[in-house]
Order: sequence, then C-alpha cells, then structure tokens
Amino acid sequence: MIHAILLAGGSGNRMQTETPKQLMELNGKKVVCWSLEVFEKSRLIDDIILVTRKEDIPFFRSEIVDRYGYRKVRRICPGGERRVDSVENGLNTINEDEDEERIVLIHDSARPFVTERMIEDSVNCIRDGFKACTVGVPVKDTIKKVTESGGHVIGTDTPERSKLYIIQTPQTFSLNTIKKAYKRLEAVDEQTRSKVTDDTMVVEQYAGVTSVIIPGAYTNIKLTTPEDMVVAGAFAASDNHLVF
Ligand code: C5P
Repeated sequence: MIHAILLAGGSGNRMQTETPKQLMELNGKKVVCWSLEVFEKSRLIDDIILVTRKEDIPFFRSEIVDRYGYRKVRRICPGGERRVDSVENGLNTINEDEDEERIVLIHDSARPFVTERMIEDSVNCIRDGFKACTVGVPVKDTIKKVTESGGHVIGTDTPERSKLYIIQTPQTFSLNTIKKAYKRLEAVDEQTRSKVTDDTMVVEQYAGVTSVIIPGAYTNIKLTTPEDMVVAGAFAASDNHLVF
C-alpha cells in the first residue's frame, strides 16, 4: 500500500494574498490541483490524504475533491499550526500494519510541478531497501552561513558548493520509519519542534536514518513569495517542455 500525504494546510502569509497559495489560480487551475492530479494519475499511489486548514475542509471536499473527482482522496484531515503539525496529523490517520511494508510520500501542494517520474523514482528507492528518500537538485549559487551582528548580517562560513543540495518534495519513507521518528518528536520541546522544516530532518534526528537524494527538478519550485507565481506561470504555460 502506498500513501501520499498532500499538504495544503498553510496560510501563505509570505505570499501577501488573502487567498491561501494552494487555492490560487495557475494557468486556469488551482495550485493544489496541479499536484493532486499527478498523484491521482500515478499508478503507484493507492491512497491520498489531503491536509488542509480545518475551516477549509468543506470547501476542499465539495469544490476540489468531489468537483474534479479525485477518487484516491479518501481522507481530508485538519492541519496544524506549523507544517510539522500538519504532517503529524496526516500520519496519524494511517494505521500501522505489522505485516505489510508500506510506503508514505509527503508532498507540499505548494510545489505544483511534481512529476510522475519523481514519484516512481522515489517509490523505487524505498523498494530497493532504503528507509528515506527525497528529491533534490544541486545548489547553483554560493551559500553562506551567517550571523547577525550590530544590525548587519555577517557571513561566517562558505560551505563547499559541490556538497550542497536544495531539498524538495516529495519525500518518501517506509511507514514504520516515519511513524517512529514522529512518535519520538512528540517528546521534544516546542522550540526544537519549531525548527523542523522538512521530514528528512525528522528521520535523521529522531530515527537515525539518512536519506537518499534522487533527482528532483529546477522546475519543482515551492510557491512562497509573489515572484514565485510569475515564474510558476511561465512553467505552467510552457506545455511541459521544462518539466522533467
Ligand atoms: O509554508 P511553507 O512554504 O513551508 O509550506 C510548505 C507546505 O506545507 C505547503 O504546501 C503548505 O500548504 C503546507 N503547510 C501545512 N500546514 C501548515 C503550514 C504549511 O500543510 N501549518
């Protein structure tokens, strides 16, 4: 059984719009529908858990899932305050099953350009025996570690660029591994918990599991700030020539 948790529970404050980014229109289709369609179409995915803000559940049910007929979405569950809380809620809807080695993909619906190829490669990686995998791409820019001093941002260190990757989603796990890591995260204080930005770091820190990084795509951007919508509009209109 292969589950996909699709996160659409953010409020999108950094987008500076009233409408949450997952419900904004991209080339005539709502942002959330772009990735939902890819997961719905993938022959590997059995079950989709859609995580939305609690108040948005009726809208998502009638205007997204029923309206467009996403048959694999069997549950729409309420998200939490932070992404990590939303993932936890999504995972809690999946019961553990000792007899079966199950797989979970976790994807940000704010990344509309996920592809079936990424889903397939991710699932194959776990089927090959790895416990965790993520899509990612090599960093193109030089990255600095910084500190703040006297109102200035000061660069303190320049990690070797060839050793740095941009980490994207989907991120894929054996169910037992991600469940174990999130169980251990329950005991962690709020300040530590609020530093969680993705799920591979949760399995690294709380299950001692490293992740395999497989090719994502530079088109697999996360819509975060207004200029991302302009870039996404160009990708969306490009007739998939840029989406690998
Ligand atoms: O805010 P950020 O860009 O990190 O959000 C990444 C993804 O996590 C988005 O798809 C967003 O909808 C989701 N999210 C969520 N619940 C939250 C915050 C973010 O499902 N509380």
